Amino acid sequence: MSNENISRRGLMLVLSSPSGAGKTTLSRRLLESDRNISLSVSATTRAMRPGEVHGKDYHFLKMEEFEAWLGEGKFLEHAMVFGNRYGTPSHLVTDELGAGRDVLFDIDWQGTQQLKEKMRDDLVSIFILPPSHDELERRLKTRAQDSDEIVAGRMAKAADEISHWPEYDYVVVNTDVEKALADIQAILNAERLRRSRQTGISEFVGRLI
Ligand code: 5GP
Repeated sequence: MSNENISRRGLMLVLSSPSGAGKTTLSRRLLESDRNISLSVSATTRAMRPGEVHGKDYHFLKMEEFEAWLGEGKFLEHAMVFGNRYGTPSHLVTDELGAGRDVLFDIDWQGTQQLKEKMRDDLVSIFILPPSHDELERRLKTRAQDSDEIVAGRMAKAADEISHWPEYDYVVVNTDVEKALADIQAILNAERLRRSRQTGISEFVGRLI
């Protein structure tokens, strides 16, 4: 765990993966296990899936609304993914970081590149890989809410997505959810302990000696 009594700057933890690598489950488990990190809720123009909640999973916007947000400069990054638009609203992110809280981003490689250009020092990026080609295909097929066409499209896109793994700080293979979660928690804890993020360290040391 982090040094709780020393003030620090929050970090931006990005999780990217091809669809079907188990990223959604890992994000949910990480958020449940750690009260110092919260999810950046993206905006999207894609249709809501069964079980999704507006404002919790995404801000579901009409194309005109998305474009209006874009025009008003409300996005920290934005991208077109599988024919739909996605964007990270900037409000809250900077407040959370300044208050020493971490923010989790479930975004693709295009968004990660944009965040890297803007906020490199705050960014920690992890690419999640599925354990094998067969398992990836199996996971994509078991998503009942997606049509065959969407599954085929995503399988084809997976190779493209996966080709971006060298752009990330860390790579985690999700063979076992518990192990992958433990790996992500270990990365998060180590990155929290970076000297550069522990803004209160001089003061703390000053009191020690
Ligand atoms: P889905 O529609 O299945 O929820 O997400 C499709 C892809 O879009 C995922 O790879 C997800 O990480 C990515 N994505 C979700 N929100 C954003 C966002 O705000 N920005 C970017 N660049 N990608 C996003």
